[in-house]
Amino acid sequence: MKLVIVAALAVVVIGAVALKKGKTPTESNTSAATAAAPAPGGGSEAKAGLGSTAKLPKLIDLGADKCIPCKMMAPILEEMKKEYAGRMQVEFIDVWKNPDAGKQYGIEMIPTQIFYDAEGKERFRHVGFFGKEDILGKWKELGVDVSGGKAAAGIVRETPVAADTRPRESVCFMCDGDVNAKTKTVVKGQSEQRVLCGPHCYLIYLSSIVGADPQAEEAKVSVTDWASGNLVAATAATYLYGMDAKGRPTIKAFANKEAATKEQQSSPANLLPWDVLRSKELATRCAFCDRAVYPEDACGVKFGTTHGYGCCTHCSMGVAARLKQDIEVEAKDGLTGELIRVKTLDGQIASLEPATAVAWFGQKKDAEGKWASAGCFKQGFFVNDGNLQKWLEARPAMTGRQISIAQALADKMKLSPEQIAKACKLGECK
Ligand SMILES: [Zn+2]
Ligand SMILES: [Zn+2]
Repeated sequence: MKLVIVAALAVVVIGAVALKKGKTPTESNTSAATAAAPAPGGGSEAKAGLGSTAKLPKLIDLGADKCIPCKMMAPILEEMKKEYAGRMQVEFIDVWKNPDAGKQYGIEMIPTQIFYDAEGKERFRHVGFFGKEDILGKWKELGVDVSGGKAAAGIVRETPVAADTRPRESVCFMCDGDVNAKTKTVVKGQSEQRVLCGPHCYLIYLSSIVGADPQAEEAKVSVTDWASGNLVAATAATYLYGMDAKGRPTIKAFANKEAATKEQQSSPANLLPWDVLRSKELATRCAFCDRAVYPEDACGVKFGTTHGYGCCTHCSMGVAARLKQDIEVEAKDGLTGELIRVKTLDGQIASLEPATAVAWFGQKKDAEGKWASAGCFKQGFFVNDGNLQKWLEARPAMTGRQISIAQALADKMKLSPEQIAKACKLGECK
């Protein structure tokens, strides 16, 4: 009874709730990676009790219906119970209603998940919230097959299906899109020049340079005059800032203001000088990598009461790592634009809608031949692997691999603050 009272008074602000007086939840703030120490005595009793009945691998979650991380686990356990019926047993035990069970299993904090193999042998314990992908990943790591032969194929493409034969000067350095001759933007480097599809990609480029001196950088940029097709200094041009049918900004550059004003009569848009265009474009940034972004292209990320953006699906996961905060992401399927909702808790996936959603990790070989991220424009989430497959069919030059959304989050969560500061920066992104 004492155990129940203490537990009921515990303040639920962290991943797990201490069950016994005098046991402080010292490790629960890092619950994501913390395995519970084997319980003295209790674990082996429980093991013996299970051995005789279990023919399937079994996952027992010991929690309580009023503890926050336990509540977040409930729908995951329900879903797995149905989805893995006949392949794995899933059981929930409420230790506030049934305090003896807490003793029997020797647990000290809730929620605690105990993994038993088909022989009834305890293989692993985890304290705190544990998402579906994490549970499945743990079974895999333990060498316990709960897939029933239905293992997800996971697309891997290490070599392009067809090479990209476009001439270099017609491919945007930033987004890899086709360069329209009317909006072509050129950055002159010391030895080479970089071609971008338009001023927007240039401003993404500028926001990706570490410690950029804007004046020195801007002196290198030329834009195409919409009227004549000639290159002119970006800082000297006038810009028509309009909107396409989908509400996404459009930018046309003009060498002289009269031509811009004339064009404005046929297509409604604002006339802007370069510095206003720049500050407008740089006002909205990726909450992970700080790149300039249009909300229309981005993932919405909610953290606390604040709304922000991730410039790509993977960056949106990175917001949890950068802010060390739980986030809610609304990503769009790369093929169809269907919504994919991801919620995190303590750096792990708390919910994923639809549950079939997968991620594509676009990768390419770097100068040393090692696989590295191909950058923000080559990443995506999809409501299912069929959509990813179709998306890849339309992108024969794309290389990379299918990963789980939990993996996309985990990859970001393990970054150090120094790595986060360099994320997606030109020449720094690894
Ligand atoms: Zn571009
Ligand atoms: Zn980003």
